[in-house]
Amino acid sequence: MKCVAILGGGPAGSFAAAQLASAGLSVRLFDEKLAWEKPCGGGLTYKAYSQYPFLLDNPTPKREVRETVLAAPNAGEVTLKLDEPLLIYSRFDLNRLLLERAERAGAQIEKARVLSMARSAFGWQLRTSAGTASADFCIVATGARNPLRDVGTQLHAEDTMSALGYYVPGTQARIDIQFLPHLEGYIWVFPRCGHLSVGICGKGEAAGSLRRRLELYMTQHDISWKDATFYSHLLPSLDASSWRGNRVSGDGWIAVGDAAGLVDPITGEGLYYAMRSGDLAARTILEDACAPAGLPAAYRALLRGDFAGDLEFGSRLAKRVFLGRFLLGSVPARMVQFTRRSPRFAAIIQDLFSGKQPYLGLKRRLLRNLNGSLYDIGMSVGFSRMVPRKDPA
Ligand SMILES: Cc1cc2nc3c(=O)[nH]c(=O)nc-3n(C[C@H](O)[C@H](O)[C@H](O)COP(=O)(O)OP(=O)(O)OC[C@H]3O[C@@H](n4cnc5c(N)ncnc54)[C@H](O)[C@@H]3O)c2cc1C
Repeated sequence: MKCVAILGGGPAGSFAAAQLASAGLSVRLFDEKLAWEKPCGGGLTYKAYSQYPFLLDNPTPKREVRETVLAAPNAGEVTLKLDEPLLIYSRFDLNRLLLERAERAGAQIEKARVLSMARSAFGWQLRTSAGTASADFCIVATGARNPLRDVGTQLHAEDTMSALGYYVPGTQARIDIQFLPHLEGYIWVFPRCGHLSVGICGKGEAAGSLRRRLELYMTQHDISWKDATFYSHLLPSLDASSWRGNRVSGDGWIAVGDAAGLVDPITGEGLYYAMRSGDLAARTILEDACAPAGLPAAYRALLRGDFAGDLEFGSRLAKRVFLGRFLLGSVPARMVQFTRRSPRFAAIIQDLFSGKQPYLGLKRRLLRNLNGSLYDIGMSVGFSRMVPRKDPA
């Protein structure tokens, strides 16, 4: 294999390009926009920057957020301190950082839209807005709205969330997360460099209805959307039944990032999985380049062993997390209450946020800590009853 074409230069494509080019392969990356402000929170978890430290150690502007406020109906709110901060980038800056890294490694970066791809005995023929190109192998990194119908994940309605919101002037130190009644999704207020991103994601609900929920929240929290910029995009959120047949690779191609549906079905985190799948795709190609027929299966196995198995398990939990009931209350309400009352439970939620706690193994850890958490809760309830409340002066 001599030449690899990468279709799409978001985090997934540019990461794969850097790895392949630095190993000496000839890499051509095509993106119709190159660096751009894709609708996205731009939040990177500890899981991402601990594995790829250059994401932390670079001069590109970014925010470090160390506090999240979780709120749910009938449960109030709780402040969760983040021992491992969340990094927040502008997507323009993050994309540019990753594209420049790929270019420095030797990849040829081209601003062009890929219009079609055709397979022949000699490899791929691509038609782009700038002309034609040929390649021995293709990496499909065209995102959630992948226009290339024959390659990448086939997203059905049950495999997606709508995500929409406003960029609002303002600043705050924390992230706000608000759970809502009867919604498989949530509202966020994200402090970004220079503005707030106030948005909502939800599964199985029309975008118009999500927008009304968001605007009601903004009204209640005194956040004006007048003169704010509106954004909306699609978020892959694969149904539990879709993972097995998920089309992540085929004859002569591998899909990465959103184009392969690789997004956390509960949180919507996709940046880490985009970069990680780009890394795994590159590894598969470099290790198995002499036997291209085995590449699709090798990539599927590597992906599953690395993180796709965990995301698949997450998709089985998603409905229970947002819509389930526990001890006569909703799961989000119990989560907020338990986080407030039990340091042990709060530590688990914090590890979920940072990515230290995978979904596989979560139940075991919750059960192992159940007695301790209930003890914490009992103590905090009992203690607050024993201490007489001070009357406000
Ligand atoms: C509202 C919202 C908030 C989010 N917040 C977060 C967050 O805080 N943290 C997080 O981890 N994840 C977040 N995500 C998810 C994250 O944005 C995606 O998972 C991530 O961008 C996926 O990267 P990617 O490279 O696979 O795709 P993309 O970033 O979508 O990149 C695809 C690239 O392909 C190019 N392209 C498409 N078609 C063609 C074509 N035919 N020819 C040439 N180029 C093409 C596009 O121009 C684009 O640059 C959020 C998503 C949404 C919608």
